[in-house]
Amino acid sequence: MADISNTLSRRTLLASLAAAPALTAAAAPVAAQTPAANTAAEQAQAALKDAKFTKLVLLGTGGGPGGRGPGRTRKMTSHVMLSNGAAYVLDCGIGVTEQYASTGIPFPALRSIFITHHHADHNIEYGPLLVVGWINGMRLDVRAFGPPPLKQMTEDFMRAYRTTVDFWAEDFKMKPLVTVDVKEVSEPGAVMQDDNVSVFATIVEHPPVKPALGYRFDFKDRSIAFSGDTARSEAVARLAKGADVLVHEAMLVPALESYMRAEIAKGRPIKFEDYMAHMKADHTSVEDVGRIAQEAGVNTLVLSHLVPFIDGVTDDAWRSLAAKYFKGEIIVGKDLMVV
Ligand SMILES: [Zn+2]
Ligand SMILES: [Zn+2]
Repeated sequence: MADISNTLSRRTLLASLAAAPALTAAAAPVAAQTPAANTAAEQAQAALKDAKFTKLVLLGTGGGPGGRGPGRTRKMTSHVMLSNGAAYVLDCGIGVTEQYASTGIPFPALRSIFITHHHADHNIEYGPLLVVGWINGMRLDVRAFGPPPLKQMTEDFMRAYRTTVDFWAEDFKMKPLVTVDVKEVSEPGAVMQDDNVSVFATIVEHPPVKPALGYRFDFKDRSIAFSGDTARSEAVARLAKGADVLVHEAMLVPALESYMRAEIAKGRPIKFEDYMAHMKADHTSVEDVGRIAQEAGVNTLVLSHLVPFIDGVTDDAWRSLAAKYFKGEIIVGKDLMVV
């Protein structure tokens, strides 16, 4: 293991040395003049460095399958919680691996991965996170939790990548990643407990996906609940009761309507009424998110999995509608934000 990380870090070092002369010349004066212009990744690293309390990092805050292309900078849904040096990932949309790496949290810190439901914006990078995590020193006893058929999906992915994994195992003289321990979750209740955290799940409303889960993480110093994807759900209010933080999906209906009207005008083959009916049956308006947060009595509401998945909707537009009903702190989620 030590040999491998040496090999990898030597390689990284060589790559950065090769790029260094141009960068130092260009970057040094800029950095000196504008210390506030740190990247989101640098800010996240600074906030996590020597963190004494449990931290949540929003790795991706866009909702749904959209969001690729110009004018769309939010990545698909994923989060990591860091507590007492151990990392817990919730959801694995596209970008989870790079975003995790950007936080500076080492891969050997990763303990467990939780999946809320099997829409691709929540699970598509689960397998790649395992393989890339493994080559970067992830523990082989990492565990995964999520709705069925997560066990079968894990086995199928690992079978598909067996040859690929074995090549690196041979290249770097590593014990190959064969599979990970999966516990499927299909009922509300306790999911797991370790020395840092107790995790609970509830069933939320996200047809036709069954089951779709919300989770609550009770760390020693802080409790964080996640709605997952859901229509307005009393189960989420109960799950989050008295939590410090509720991360809730949110939909801004007027912005979504004008966005979809523009898409349809451009020729997107969707019927407006059908689309909006689907969205309202499956997701929660930001006003209702405020109501649920108030009912739960949380301290902090984090709006994430934002729909529409486009830049240009102001933070105020999101916040003001939730604030009509929720009187605590409201944070409009941004990628790599540390809460
Ligand atoms: Zn989603
Ligand atoms: Zn979904």
